[in-house]
Order: sequence, then C-alpha cells, then structure tokens
Amino acid sequence: MNFEKLVEIYMQLEKTASGNEMRQILAEFFKSVPKDDIHIVAYLTLGKLGAEYEDVVLGLAEKSVVKAIAKAAGVSEAKVKELVDKRGDAGLAAEDLLKKKPMTLVPVGELTIHEFFEKLHKIANTDGSGSQDTKANILVSLLQKTSAAGARYLIRIVLGQLRMGVAEMTVLDALAIAYTGEKKNKEILEYAYNISPDVGIIAETIAKNGLKGFDHFSVQVGRPVKMMLAQRVEELEEISKKIECEMIVEGKYDGERVQAHKLSDGKIILFSRRLDTITDQFPDLVEYLGKYVKAKTFVLEGEILAIDAEGNPLPFQTLMQRRRKYDVAEYVSKIPIQLKVFDLLYVDGVSYLDKPLVDREKKTKQMISSSGQVVVAERIVTSSIDEVEEFFQKMLERGYEGIIVKNPQGEYQAGTRGWNWIKWKKDYVKELSDTFDLVVLGAYIGRGRRHGTYGALLGGIYDEKNDEFLSFCKIGTGLNDEMLAELPTRFKEYVVGKKPARVKVEKIMEPDVWFSPEIVVEVSGAEITQSPSHTAGVALRFPRFLRYREKSAEQATTVKEVKGMMGK
Ligand code: ATP
Repeated sequence: MNFEKLVEIYMQLEKTASGNEMRQILAEFFKSVPKDDIHIVAYLTLGKLGAEYEDVVLGLAEKSVVKAIAKAAGVSEAKVKELVDKRGDAGLAAEDLLKKKPMTLVPVGELTIHEFFEKLHKIANTDGSGSQDTKANILVSLLQKTSAAGARYLIRIVLGQLRMGVAEMTVLDALAIAYTGEKKNKEILEYAYNISPDVGIIAETIAKNGLKGFDHFSVQVGRPVKMMLAQRVEELEEISKKIECEMIVEGKYDGERVQAHKLSDGKIILFSRRLDTITDQFPDLVEYLGKYVKAKTFVLEGEILAIDAEGNPLPFQTLMQRRRKYDVAEYVSKIPIQLKVFDLLYVDGVSYLDKPLVDREKKTKQMISSSGQVVVAERIVTSSIDEVEEFFQKMLERGYEGIIVKNPQGEYQAGTRGWNWIKWKKDYVKELSDTFDLVVLGAYIGRGRRHGTYGALLGGIYDEKNDEFLSFCKIGTGLNDEMLAELPTRFKEYVVGKKPARVKVEKIMEPDVWFSPEIVVEVSGAEITQSPSHTAGVALRFPRFLRYREKSAEQATTVKEVKGMMGK
C-alpha cells in the first residue's frame, strides 16, 4: 500500500472535529487496507511506531529535522527555521517548501507504507556518534519520496506532533465497524486490548481471523497487561454491600506498582503502572524475583516499597529517589526495597486472569519462598466490617495508607476499575467537628515499624456520676515517628503494675501496659458508634491523635458530653 493513501486519510481526519466522523473515515479506510499492512496502519493513525508500551523513540533533534527539510527542499537551514517560526508548525513549513522543490530533486518510485515504517524504525534504532546525521539522512530520503502534503504529516510524526484527535479507543471502534459491521463488538476488542495493549496486534487479529481470533486471546509473557484498579466508597459499610461474601482485606501500600514478567529464557521485565519499562531502575528486584519466585515463567504484580534496615516501610518520597537513569547501583545500596506481591496473572503457560482471587493467592503463596525482599501482601479474610476497620487501623499504625478490600471470587479485571477491589484510605475518613479530650489509660506494645515503642494508646472518657474512667477507643494514628519514639519515656512515670482503681476496661481491650489516669490527649474522630468492646458502651471510630492537653483527668470529655453529642 502506498503511503499517499494514508496521507489522504490524515487530510480527511484533520478536517473533522467529530469523533463519529473520524470513526467512519477510519472504518472505511481500514476496509481497503491489505491485511499485512493493517498493524502498521493502526499504529500510524495514532502517529506511533509500535504499541504505546514499547515507546519507540525516534530521537531526532529539532535541529536535525530542520537540516533534513533544508536538504530535501534545496534551501538554507536559516530559511527553514524562519518558515517554521512563521507557520508555528514544522510540518506546514516542510509542506510549503517542498511544494516548490526543483523537479530534479524528485526521485521516481513510490513510497510504500512498509518502507515508510521500516525507515522510521531505522531512525529510531540508530544511535552512537554521528547518529543525528544518519537519522537526518534517512529523513531526507523519506521526504524526497513523499508528496508535499505527505511531508507535512511525516514531519509531525517525527516530532511526535501528529495530534489528529484519534485515540486508541477510536481505532478499536473503527476496527469493529470495519471488520464486524457493528460498533458494539468493540467491547470484545477492548477486552482483548486490556490484556494486550497493542493496537497493531488487535488490528491484525481482527483483520485476519475476525472475532473468533479473540477466543483464545491470552496473556503473553513480556507484553504488559493493563492493570486492574480499585473502586472507592463513601462509607466503609458500603463495602459489605458491594462484596456480599467474605472479604479479603489487604494493606494499601504506598509505593510503586509493578507488573513483573519472567520469560522462558529467564529474562525478567518490570512494567510500571503506566506500562513503561522500569527494569533498569530495579536490578535488585530483578535479582530477588529470579531467586525467590519458583516458576519458569510468570506475570505477577505487587507494590515496591523502600524499607529501612529493619524491613519497615519508608515513605513514597524515599522510593522516588530510585526513579533514576544514573547512579542506579549507588541507590540500590542506599535505598533497599521490598516487593509486596498481591496478584498473579500468569504462570508456566497458564493464564490466571479468569481464576478467582483465592486461587490466584493460593498459587502465589506456593510460588514464593519467604525472604525479606519478596513477600506476599499481608491480609485477613473476614465478613465483619468491624474487623475490616480494625485491620485498617492496624495498617495505618504500620505506616501504610489504608486498605484494599477484595472479592475472593473476583477475577482479575484487566484495565478496569471494578468492584472486585475497593480501596479505603486514611484521607477518606470524614472527621466530626468536635474533638475529644481523652485520658490515656494504657498502651499496647508496638510491632513492625513500631517495634520498641508503643503501637497504640487506650483512650478513656470520664464518667462523672461514678467517678470512673471508661475506655472509648484505641489511638494509633496521628502520631509521627518522633512522637511515637518518645512515648515510653513520656509515659514512664505513669506506668503502674496493674489496672488502677477507678479505671474500667473490658477484657478484650486490656492494654499491655497500664497507666495511672493522668495524661489527657486531644483526639479527633469520624463517628461515635455503639460498642460492646468498650466500657463506655460507645466507641470513637477512626480516632486520630491531635495533641497533648494540660488538663487533669477529671477535666476530660465526660460520658454526658458524649451522649449529648449523640443526641441522647
Ligand atoms: P491512588 O492514588 O488511590 O493509589 P490510583 O488510581 O493510583 O489511586 P487505585 O486503583 O485507586 O490507584 O488503587 C490501586 C493502587 O494501589 C494500585 O495501583 C497499587 O499501586 C496500590 N496498591 C497498594 N497495595 C495494594 C494491594 N494490596 N492491592 C492492590 N493494589 C495495591
């Protein structure tokens, strides 16, 4: 097929702003494209040279493009530059100049779409010293073989400025119309595209095999799968309406998502959330995956976290320092990482996309030998929203940003934000306008990140009628690392060997360390709910430490005040 056919389509597309019309123009055109050219045409309609994730970069400096236009048009570089500035578009400048080019410079022979595509790839693959000249020369040869209008689009493609308004979804719509006669079949193409985000492959499959070509469409190791995303809810309780069976609850780690592929030759490729290749940034992770995951080939997903010497998570900003091209080895030792594996998409020739999450998890556990570097995400299985909330608090205490609640029967919904995953983050918690002054009754020994200090405090309110302190909530969030570290010192003089006389606490809430009820802290919260676990009979949900108060224990928030706030 001649490149000029595509140029005609570019011209038609440029004239319309209507998405519908674009789809029709493309659908009509696709019908006329030979099946062996369709993948190239699909990429080129998007101004691309391959799948989005392949990110083929032409690497032509603007200066080299100007040089090539000058050479092809037989004018000076200064003239080209002047015209580019005037037109504000190098493509239009090239077109203007080539319209006037001397006939002697026009070689005979047509430019096929194949040659066009190959030469652009050659430009992309040329590197090293003198490569800008080589690239520019290839561009000249292309400019000499196109029409003036062709030069307009060629230059825009080369500069990554085609911007026709055509997106991947427009191409999928047009392919569905062209090859099945019905736009609604795009759903099938889109499903396949989510598993294999490559319009060239989708175009070739539908053109050569029709819809049945997608029947056995599956994960291909080395080709990223579009990532599944999580829905959100307004209230925590809504989650149990969306997932009506037991729930799998995992920590929501604040790191970088990765999809790791191991090919049959042992090579490991890492893809980011945006499907960029990030293998070179994490040579340590490549090594760990090769060492600790027992499978010949696999596709698995997890979150990369920066960790400290004890294996505790460090903030996202620390991990971001690993996003670099240079000094990678230095940063590998400076900022160690850990992978929390939370999903499995493929292993040893079998796609796990359609299998329920419980099966994917079971297999993941079998494949991973325990190490500090590759670990399976921590999780609980429960049907109680109270336990979900408790796990949420625990995850916050460990320094994570929340939880992801998952449907154990749910499949992996590639590229979809569906209800099989629901996130609940600390930022979602809406706070009551009133705060509470709580007496600290005791503390719980910290684990993980909070090892060596207290993990949470037990807060109580004052029952003025009986002159007693009743437990109201566990306070684990709102304390920064510094405040946490100094808790044992701050409370040292208040530690008592057993429960103080005026303090009432249910057995299941008993702290590891009791304090004489003297210190008062101000706490915010989201809601007051009935609770059999606390002697106050009610509890504060999502409590968050605000500050220490200079108040006596008897000046703390009272049972009466809490009741008043609940409208009783
Ligand atoms: P957010 O900014 O809330 O992360 P997002 O749109 O980037 O939003 P979401 O779909 O909301 O992504 O949340 C899923 C993200 O959470 C994943 O992309 C992943 O990086 C991260 N994550 C952390 N822990 C888990 C986990 N256990 N399971 C799934 N995703 C997790």
